[in-house]
Amino acid sequence: MRDILVQAAVSDGQGRTVVQELALPQNVSRLRVESSAVCGTDVTLHGGGLKQPAILGHHVIGRVDQLTDADAAALGVAVGSRVAVEEYVGCGECAECRADRYRLCPSVDLWTGGERVGMIPVGRGSGLHGGNAGYLELGAHHRVHPLPDHLSIELAAWTLPLANAVDWTIDTGGSGPGKHVVVIGPGYHGVACVAAAVASGAASITVLGRKSSAKRLEMARALGAVPELSDDGDVRRVLDRVGPVDVVVDTIGSPQTVATALAMLGRFGILVMAGLAGVDTAIGPTAIVRNMLTVRGVRGRSPHAVRRAIELLAAGSTGLESVPTHFLSLEQVGETLRAMRAGTGPVTPHIVVDPWLPAEPDTSPSQPLEATR
Ligand SMILES: [Zn+2]
Ligand SMILES: [Zn+2]
Repeated sequence: MRDILVQAAVSDGQGRTVVQELALPQNVSRLRVESSAVCGTDVTLHGGGLKQPAILGHHVIGRVDQLTDADAAALGVAVGSRVAVEEYVGCGECAECRADRYRLCPSVDLWTGGERVGMIPVGRGSGLHGGNAGYLELGAHHRVHPLPDHLSIELAAWTLPLANAVDWTIDTGGSGPGKHVVVIGPGYHGVACVAAAVASGAASITVLGRKSSAKRLEMARALGAVPELSDDGDVRRVLDRVGPVDVVVDTIGSPQTVATALAMLGRFGILVMAGLAGVDTAIGPTAIVRNMLTVRGVRGRSPHAVRRAIELLAAGSTGLESVPTHFLSLEQVGETLRAMRAGTGPVTPHIVVDPWLPAEPDTSPSQPLEATR
């Protein structure tokens, strides 16, 4: 029987990723992957966070390649549609799924043993359940959002990080005209939060980061933020310049960054906690009571935030094209994730796997391989 083979970067969860060929599944719905953006979660999964080997990649963009009739009705897209795929494959039946909060469905909740696109075992079914492969299998409970064709590959790959940023900075934090916003951490999501704050019309945007992140601070400056070094934990420079802050989005979530955030917020300020450094902290109640602060935790993003992010990207109003894109071939996934874990990864936070990029120029075909099995 002749199978069409698909290249896939399979990670063993112990720091190794090997490109393998998997059979393209027939009689299922599937996506031809255009890009798969890398984030810190991939670094964690790659370094030891997977229970079984899997194809990583959970910020997936692509074009619907084949659809069953049932999935076409459920997904609401057609063959040929360019879409962003969320990583959440909810059960479709629980209270959270019925309320369109499928990101909180127990079946996708990592704290209760759930799993998502980009971590489903490669040994299950077709195995094509992550973005770091030529194709992704789709089912009725995948969540896909149509993308305009004119959006560049680089900007389209920002869809889910920017959607998270819209949820955290605007929908949860209340960034908007007249608001003074601080983003802690100029990483992938921090840079996206700056773009969201700019799009919301915030009065001022400050990004805090360490000296070691100087180049990413400059990328945030190009988007419209004022960078401030946070190595000494001194917030007076920010307060002297903008006064009490309305919104702080903390993408780090360490005891130090939480203390920094609370020290900057003014009356009725909102602290959005979007990062987890892994160390719990006792939040000092004084600033919260005195300034009547709100502290909000966030997880992922709402479907509304995805649609808003796509609108902003399509309108060309994010400025994110100024952030360099570092493209990876499948062969480079493993070495890049190892480098990121060691702190020697690419300077830009926008690291995007293009599964069709040849390992060596002119030696690998850019179409599925036909082979006999
Ligand atoms: Zn991610
Ligand atoms: Zn559910």
